[in-house]
Amino acid sequence: MEDWDLLIIGAGAAGLAAGIYGARSGLKTLILDERLAGGTTAEAPLVENYPGFPQIVGTELADKMTLHCRKTGAVIHDVESVVSMNLKDEKKTVKTTRAEYRASAIIIATGAHYNEIGVKGEKEFHGRGVSYCGVCDGPFFKGKRVLVVGGGNSACITTLYLAGIAGEVMVVHRRETFRAEDALVKDILSKGNVKALWNMEIQEIKGDKVVKSVVLTNIKTKETTEMPVEAVFVQIGESPNSVQVMEAGVEPEEGGCSIKIDIRQRTNIPGVFAAGDVTNHPVRQIGTAVGQGITAALEAYSYIRRPYYRR
Ligand code: NAP
Repeated sequence: MEDWDLLIIGAGAAGLAAGIYGARSGLKTLILDERLAGGTTAEAPLVENYPGFPQIVGTELADKMTLHCRKTGAVIHDVESVVSMNLKDEKKTVKTTRAEYRASAIIIATGAHYNEIGVKGEKEFHGRGVSYCGVCDGPFFKGKRVLVVGGGNSACITTLYLAGIAGEVMVVHRRETFRAEDALVKDILSKGNVKALWNMEIQEIKGDKVVKSVVLTNIKTKETTEMPVEAVFVQIGESPNSVQVMEAGVEPEEGGCSIKIDIRQRTNIPGVFAAGDVTNHPVRQIGTAVGQGITAALEAYSYIRRPYYRR
């Protein structure tokens, strides 16, 4: 059993910011992540709204954050999955695929995963034309016709990124307008190779070994068409990665599955904090995840080092 002051689960923007503040406060800090450090920031095609970086590729920003975090002395174990945890005792314990850890405080920063549309062909062609990450898979479709599903910031940023690679980008949205930042919408609509298909829903993704076409329905006219495409990028929001911590007794928000936190990032369990997209914070931005991570780390510091400060 290894002993740490602060254990952070999740090495995305929230977890890395918490790591920086935890280590700099003098806490022996370990960050665990089942994937590589960087979180969904590393999957953002472009980030244009993180202060100090007018335009930066997601992987570059994620790498800078990870390097910064390691420089402060925080230890990051990536590609190490949590198997079980006991959060209720004074000392929290976490068992992973490699070891067992004990810590005085824990920050849950496990982020969120992409939502699926749930249509025929989506699971079957995942990795063979169906993708949830433009940065990861976009370069495979140079000069091809691809399709993006969704109408929020993620769909628009992915569309903008793909417009620079693919021959043609169709965006399918079930409404008549996007609900993304104005600057983004203006940008994508000015691209000659982007076409928005309003009031449309995907019914099915078809192909043989790889994606070949999609069946679309106009939700107003009920007209159905089949359109040849080589890739479908699904960008319809995300859901929190909270199942494991809920099983360990962390309370969800009312009627949902995000972690309920107070203004100091505290959960219902003393010594357990949460930050970033896994929480019920109403805004999901890299900047807000960083802010939440910082608050969580400073609160964890007070919890560990100044017990008189506890609630
Ligand atoms: P989002 O804002 O929740 O938008 C999801 C989009 O997908 C909506 O347009 C929604 O349509 C559509 N949709 C949902 N379920 C669907 C389904 N089953 N079939 C077809 N379409 C469906 O999600 P997001 O764009 O992933 O963003 C998530 C959060 O991260 C947001 O808070 C966003 O602001 C933030 N974010 C920010 C940036 C940035 O650079 N500022 C970048 C990425 C994400 P309806 O409109 O009809 O509901």
